[in-house]
Amino acid sequence: MDITPELLTRIAPNATPVAGDDEQIIAAQIGRTPRGLVGVGARCACGRPAVTVSLPRLPDGSPFPTLFYLSLPWLVKAVSRVEATGIMAEMTAQIAEDEALHAGHRRAHKDYLARRALLGEVPEIAGVSAGGMPDRVKCLHALAAFALSVGPGVTEFGDRALQLAGWGPDVCHCEDDER
Ligand SMILES: [Zn+2]
Repeated sequence: MDITPELLTRIAPNATPVAGDDEQIIAAQIGRTPRGLVGVGARCACGRPAVTVSLPRLPDGSPFPTLFYLSLPWLVKAVSRVEATGIMAEMTAQIAEDEALHAGHRRAHKDYLARRALLGEVPEIAGVSAGGMPDRVKCLHALAAFALSVGPGVTEFGDRALQLAGWGPDVCHCEDDER
């Protein structure tokens, strides 16, 4: 499949093509060669990849529902610290109580699926998005990766996760990671 810059932008406004050392940096970040990589969803202030964008069907034929994957080590750790507070249970309870919030989470779910469909329909994962959408909040890493790639206002819980994790466009903690 030919991934033009125009297609990549439709998948995620913040995405940029895989270039230079990106693939090697991502491999070091996640501890394996990235499979089905089509773009970088967002970058750290220093330019290192923060999110991978992957095909919904990997080159070996296996279905891969995770369109956006958080790869930047310092941010992965920061989001893990937020998750360790158990906030996902609170967020899921909020969804159950607040119809507008639930509607927004359902919209984010559909938005995620529509973006992924631009890379092809994969029947095995039809209706399966990420992070617990549409009815729960299970993985803030997945929602944060989504929010980073598409920008604020699409996934409320992804936006909150990034804020709680101390993300900012000018923030880089990559050096702290390399101790
Ligand atoms: Zn950095």
